Amino acid sequence: MSRMRAVIFNGPKQLELCEVPVPQPGPGEVVVRVRFALTCGTDLKGYKRGHRLFAPGMIFGHEFAGEISAVGAVGAGMTKWREGDLVTAANSAPCNECFYCRRGQQQLCEDLDNRFNWGAFADYIRVPAHIVAQNMHAAPANVSLAHAGIIEPLACAIHGVDVGRVRFGDTVAIIGAGAQSLMQIRIARAMGAAQVLVVGRSRGRLERARAMGATHVFSTHDGDALEFVRTHTAGRGADVTLEAAGAAETWQQALAMTRPGGTAVMFSGLPGGTQVPLDATKLHYGQVAVQGIFHHTPRYVEMALQMLASGALDAGALIDGEIPLEQVEDGLQRMDRSEVVKLAVRVG
Ligand SMILES: [Zn+2]
Ligand SMILES: [Zn+2]
Repeated sequence: MSRMRAVIFNGPKQLELCEVPVPQPGPGEVVVRVRFALTCGTDLKGYKRGHRLFAPGMIFGHEFAGEISAVGAVGAGMTKWREGDLVTAANSAPCNECFYCRRGQQQLCEDLDNRFNWGAFADYIRVPAHIVAQNMHAAPANVSLAHAGIIEPLACAIHGVDVGRVRFGDTVAIIGAGAQSLMQIRIARAMGAAQVLVVGRSRGRLERARAMGATHVFSTHDGDALEFVRTHTAGRGADVTLEAAGAAETWQQALAMTRPGGTAVMFSGLPGGTQVPLDATKLHYGQVAVQGIFHHTPRYVEMALQMLASGALDAGALIDGEIPLEQVEDGLQRMDRSEVVKLAVRVG
């Protein structure tokens, strides 16, 4: 049996480049020869602290693009794919049968935990049948394979902006200047936001935000972020606020920054059990909608692909260079030090 290189997750801060068997495709599955994988904030979180879905011994990484090297026995929909096809895929796909899926809330699929696919930091990755059928796509011909893997996080970012119901001419405030925020700036502008106000810490990141289309940026080193938002909204607050900084305080700030009748989208997850006191007056009399947001659906993955293919998002603006498979751990540490937003792992 032929063997391949793979970055194995042995636990927090324990990654190891190993030789393992090349996966074989089962019915309805494909195996992809990975050309490029991308590092992601979820990888970094899992690397540092572990992740409830990361079992020791699994192959790390989940954003990738590459070339189909083997196609499983022909099953539903499998005639669509051939060896040599260039593809990218999201890291999960819903069951479409459970209570939530039947109500169009596939991101809440009851079986989601069992429907993830990991293993992008390797020479080959097996793509399970449910993902092949719903969330694997031909890589757009005009997009570099080093960029195509971004459809998964981009789908999450689009989901977040979409549930905020951004309208033409709106002012959108974004708290945070990480990869998700940088994509959301571009999405909000594409949806017609007239102003995108970005609050962050690092001035370097805020310059990146400006390059992505933020109309105004503000560093919390320089004072009161709420005042900054008020200044640009005649004192009212933003129509839509996207919280993507990941702290209880920024959740509260997001509510405070939103105008009466507007929507505050809580995009970032907080540690399990976290309680956040929210301003009841603002919620009730201000009629602000507070909207949580998680993951993506096949429709959002499709939108991400279209956004990439149309050139509306240049993924290259988020990817700060290429590294070989041997340097994944070092790359994650560079992300942790905020030296880079994302890195492309050059595999094949
Ligand atoms: Zn990701
Ligand atoms: Zn389901």
